[in-house]
Amino acid sequence: MNYCSHCGSSVRLAVPEGDNRPRHICDNCHTIHYLNPKVVAGCLPVYGDKVLLCRRAIEPRKGLWTLPAGFMENGESTEQGALRETREEALAEVELISLYTVTSILHVNQVQMLYLARMPQPDFGAGEETLEAALFSETEIPWDELAFETISNALRFYFEDRKQDQFPLRHVEIGANR
Ligand SMILES: [Zn+2]
Repeated sequence: MNYCSHCGSSVRLAVPEGDNRPRHICDNCHTIHYLNPKVVAGCLPVYGDKVLLCRRAIEPRKGLWTLPAGFMENGESTEQGALRETREEALAEVELISLYTVTSILHVNQVQMLYLARMPQPDFGAGEETLEAALFSETEIPWDELAFETISNALRFYFEDRKQDQFPLRHVEIGANR
């Protein structure tokens, strides 16, 4: 950050009084700009013994497979965000079952929350950010063509947990802490 988003003056990086880490401070309007992690919400949609994956039409990781997920919008809940992303990327209406994975992705300052979801019907398609969407059984998952570590983790957890038919919430931390 170089300029204050409130008044347009230059900002400087310094530790505010009573704080313990550097922030972007505007000396003109006295705003302290805090940068905090963003939340990504999404779904692991299940139909029968298959899961729904989307092949990305956009960078990063264009052409690789992912679960429908994306940055939350202001004014929506994590549940609403997960449903919206699934609708936008996979053209699918799903029913959320439970929160399934919470991943702190330290190197990109993101928290990803994926919900286990049921597809009432095998209705889906490719949204604007998707080249194609498809259902995969465990043996069909393209493990070498998955877009993100968070996605392969969630899929590994799912097929593991499915044996017991128990899907406890999984907490994961990836990436180096700076
Ligand atoms: Zn300012």
